[in-house]
Amino acid sequence: MGLGVNATCDCGYFESDLSLGGNMDGTCMLFPALCRQCGRIVTVDVAQQSASCPFCRGSDVVRYDAPSLSADTKAGEAVQWGADVLRDSAYFCPKCGEYNLGFAGSGDFFD
Ligand SMILES: [Zn+2]
Ligand SMILES: [Zn+2]
Repeated sequence: MGLGVNATCDCGYFESDLSLGGNMDGTCMLFPALCRQCGRIVTVDVAQQSASCPFCRGSDVVRYDAPSLSADTKAGEAVQWGADVLRDSAYFCPKCGEYNLGFAGSGDFFD
């Protein structure tokens, strides 16, 4: 179970079909993450011991709730699933390298 998430930056970077959520039993926990190798935002299953990018299979991925990727770690929630939160903050954009990116729920749910 989870929520669809979109990421948008002022520079024109746009990533849709990201996911936030997972199983109740904790075997799957999807979270948007930065893949440094692909230079884009991907959805990673962070419940796995070695979380990897679904596109390049690389492990150089950083969850977007990492303080280093957010300009304001105390902003209100933009998208929330249980204890997992993307804030109404300015996040790091992999395309322009600025803290200008925002997350929003797409309104979609998945099982
Ligand atoms: Zn990748
Ligand atoms: Zn950007």
